Amino acid sequence: MALGGVKQKDWYKVLGAQPSDSPAELKRKYQKLALLYHPDKQEADVAAGEAEERVQRFIEIDQAWKILGNEETKKEYDLQQRGDNLTKEWPLHEQIYLEDMSWNEDKQVYTLSCRCGGNYSVSRSETKDVSLVCCDTCSLVIEILH
Ligand SMILES: [Zn+2]
Repeated sequence: MALGGVKQKDWYKVLGAQPSDSPAELKRKYQKLALLYHPDKQEADVAAGEAEERVQRFIEIDQAWKILGNEETKKEYDLQQRGDNLTKEWPLHEQIYLEDMSWNEDKQVYTLSCRCGGNYSVSRSETKDVSLVCCDTCSLVIEILH
């Protein structure tokens, strides 16, 4: 699984919330924003560009709530965020040259065995813009050097 060069959206920020907010607080913030940006609640005389922006915003808010409003996905997201921070603070994660990974012709991916027995894999097209790849089994991350 590739983490990508692009950072995951900060869903807490989208809701104007904090990771430390309680579920009830998150819900309150979500409801307030959802109401504000709901397509059915918009004034008819809003400029087209502005209306479009508001729809985009509503979609984002909805997406944020799909992740943060569910205990399972919220936990997963929180862990992932923490993982991202760990990677940043921990310079000792392995750095691997792409040439050192093995090319898997069947799956069309570069692979590398992790010390946990799992695998790192990244497709050829992903290697262009992805530099961090995480193990499919544990939480270790390698950085691919070009
Ligand atoms: Zn592993």
